[in-house]
Amino acid sequence: MTPSHLGWIEVVTGCMFSGKTEELIRRLRRARYANQPVIVFKPRIDDRYSLDSVGSHTGHSLRSVNIVSASEIPRRVGNARVVGIDEAQFFDDDLVEVCTKLADEGRRVVVAGLDTDYLGCPFGPIPALLAKAEYIDKYLAICVVCGAPANRSQRTVNRGPQVLVGAQEAYEARCRHCWDPDNFEPRQQKLPLGPNLAEESEGR
Ligand code: ZN
Repeated sequence: MTPSHLGWIEVVTGCMFSGKTEELIRRLRRARYANQPVIVFKPRIDDRYSLDSVGSHTGHSLRSVNIVSASEIPRRVGNARVVGIDEAQFFDDDLVEVCTKLADEGRRVVVAGLDTDYLGCPFGPIPALLAKAEYIDKYLAICVVCGAPANRSQRTVNRGPQVLVGAQEAYEARCRHCWDPDNFEPRQQKLPLGPNLAEESEGR
């Protein structure tokens, strides 16, 4: 039995390459070490890296349940004490109500997702979740142009809708000064990785 007052919502947000998924995985692993039942959901639209795991750009991953709609979560959540949701910006607004219900039931809900899309607009259910959450952590990346703290996702491919699933190939992290949604020219230099980073990127 889980005391109902132990439920809450945490949101891990930021732009692409800010380490959101790594942070989600880190938190869920900590819960697992404490023998808390953990489940991870992600939208089926995201088929990067693996079909049934949550993976960060650095290759760390956790098994996940891939679902089409947030409305599937309540009947698949089982006895999980901790519920992770990755790439949450791709879910519809039902996610807000679902997360609220899970937290009301006494579960810890950890949501990771982009706060804005490549046009700089609030993305999907994330803004409402930020308003409802007990805890918010907003992470920054590093601007690939000038090296300043970056909070924008710059698209470098001139096509497609708001939802263009891809990582390094289609996006760069940029600061507010270097970000330009109308210019799709990539600026990131493909430098050779150092030995430690080369090792880290294996398994991508
Ligand atoms: Zn910059």
